Amino acid sequence: MLLVVFTACNEESKKKDLANNVKEEPAPVIVRDYGFVLNDYEVVRDTIKSGDSFGIILGNHGVAPGKVFEIVQKVKDTFNPRRIVLGKPYTILKERDSARTPRVFVYENDAINYTVVDLRDSISVYTAKKPVTVTQKVVAGVITSSLSEAIQDQGLNYLLAHEMNNIYQWSIDFFRLQKGDRFKLVYNERYINDSIYAGIENIEASVFYHQDKPYYAFNFVVDSLTGERDYYDEKARPMQSFFLKAPLNFSRISSRFSPNRFHPVQKRWKAHKGTDYAAPYGTPIWSTANGVVIASSYTAGNGNYVKIKHNGTYTTQYLHMSRRGVKNGQRVKQGDIIGYVGSTGLATGPHVCYRFWVNGKQVDPFRQNLPAAEPLEEKYIPVYFATIAPLKTELGKINFESI
Ligand SMILES: [Zn+2]
Repeated sequence: MLLVVFTACNEESKKKDLANNVKEEPAPVIVRDYGFVLNDYEVVRDTIKSGDSFGIILGNHGVAPGKVFEIVQKVKDTFNPRRIVLGKPYTILKERDSARTPRVFVYENDAINYTVVDLRDSISVYTAKKPVTVTQKVVAGVITSSLSEAIQDQGLNYLLAHEMNNIYQWSIDFFRLQKGDRFKLVYNERYINDSIYAGIENIEASVFYHQDKPYYAFNFVVDSLTGERDYYDEKARPMQSFFLKAPLNFSRISSRFSPNRFHPVQKRWKAHKGTDYAAPYGTPIWSTANGVVIASSYTAGNGNYVKIKHNGTYTTQYLHMSRRGVKNGQRVKQGDIIGYVGSTGLATGPHVCYRFWVNGKQVDPFRQNLPAAEPLEEKYIPVYFATIAPLKTELGKINFESI
């Protein structure tokens, strides 16, 4: 219904207003998704239910059994119809006629990636990504009890605390933060279709004041081909090291490397050639350095374990996993998830036993002079300083009063 109020009511202005009203009639809103104009179809959105298969879903929407078979045969190499996951969203675009024939099937592999089965002409299948935009944010925080509380008190993603721990693990002991320690961050967030939050992209720049001393960190692309990034300080020194300090986010160290300890399961004195990190079941375990998996296996003593060779000198091993996440021969990077905390094998509770070899001899990694990370290549240094200058200025502009 259209309501027009005339102040000066004569025929002339009436005509003019009517003409304007015709012109101003809103154009139909074109809704696009997955690269299709949804207005052209009847759109069915649903999620995978128990007992569903790709074939059953098509059948329920009126595709004849013979045709379903033909479609499944054609798409199975790209889109394995048996591996659809309960609860995942899918969309069917149907013809707007009485038969309502399905023309397009879209399955959401995850928040960003989707698979399209296009049935309009010949059957075709492809995967694509939703458009992701990256938005820069700034934040400041003051520690009252812990870093994760300081992050979560502000309603921020807890993964920011995790990222900061990764960046600063060699320079700041986050278990020994002081009340009044504070930080400022410039970080990037991902959004799908400009509107749906899809997590943290990276921390671009940060400064952490620990006991009033500033620790700067800047994320810099060191390999333009792979897009690989690392963190360096304000003097271009690497923040990272060859080895992670620990293979997980742990609650406590429950047993250290020792030539003689009373074994809690075997009830006898023997050497403990590892460091035990206690953590809840299912906590991800990371490879402490780049390397190749040389064992991913199970024994009665070790339970599920993974062993990684990092170079000619160093090898590490991770025991008692609930589940292994890598295969023998697989190449891993520092911080990659290789398994999850459990208590398989000879273990009383959930923990990882972390073992460390130097030239084939088992040692205590806490007593080693471990290699540092690769320094930033000389040729990148001028670019680095040019890149971080505006970020440092931006960090300077963030004030703690605004929080
Ligand atoms: Zn142990």
